[in-house]
Amino acid sequence: MTEFLFRDDSYLQSTPATVTAVTAEGGFVLDKTVFYAASGGQPGDNGQIELADGSTIIIATTIHPDGDKTQVAHVPVEGSRLPAVGESVVARIDWERRYKLMRMHTALHLLSVVFPFPVTGGSVGEDKGRLDFDMPEVPEDLAALEAELNAMVAGKHEVTQEWITDAEMAANPDLIKTMNVKPPMGQGRVRLIRIGAIDLQPCGGTHVRNTSEIGRLALGKIEKKGKQNRRVSLVFAD
Ligand SMILES: [Zn+2]
Repeated sequence: MTEFLFRDDSYLQSTPATVTAVTAEGGFVLDKTVFYAASGGQPGDNGQIELADGSTIIIATTIHPDGDKTQVAHVPVEGSRLPAVGESVVARIDWERRYKLMRMHTALHLLSVVFPFPVTGGSVGEDKGRLDFDMPEVPEDLAALEAELNAMVAGKHEVTQEWITDAEMAANPDLIKTMNVKPPMGQGRVRLIRIGAIDLQPCGGTHVRNTSEIGRLALGKIEKKGKQNRRVSLVFAD
């Protein structure tokens, strides 16, 4: 089982680690990692693995091998050699990209506040994010919603995490906004992300510490996706 260092400190950019396995997907597993594996609409990290001999392996993406959420597989670019099990390495993420993903991911939590509808899908990108809502009509005053978003960014709200038990999660289904992503239950506890007094929802992703780090936001286009569904895009304004 991989220790997920990004969970308690999403700002950690590198860590020494030991290779524990090579996976069927052509990746390898470390005893601990700063690399976030693709899930919940947030893409996997890329970056590099530094070996003891001074060479590096470029990591194209990070996934949960076989969908096993307790493991993280670092998948190198094609043609790379794989490190050996037991080898000591340093794992280092592409921080510039990850920080943008953290800002946009946190921004999508705010988007789910100004659009108070059930979320049916979503995706986090470096420059753009989107959420799909079960929302029959598009709200009329989009400029006001955008202003509300930017007021929450400027409001410098702290972003913190807390944990509840699976039983507490099951007893509070109203906490779940995203219908298509099940909260990460089954390991006895579920992680909640709290944004000041604004938002609280289960989430396994990486977030900034304060909404002020997000920067100014602009609503992108709103597309119709089926009878009830509307896809709302969000971009960085600066
Ligand atoms: Zn989140």
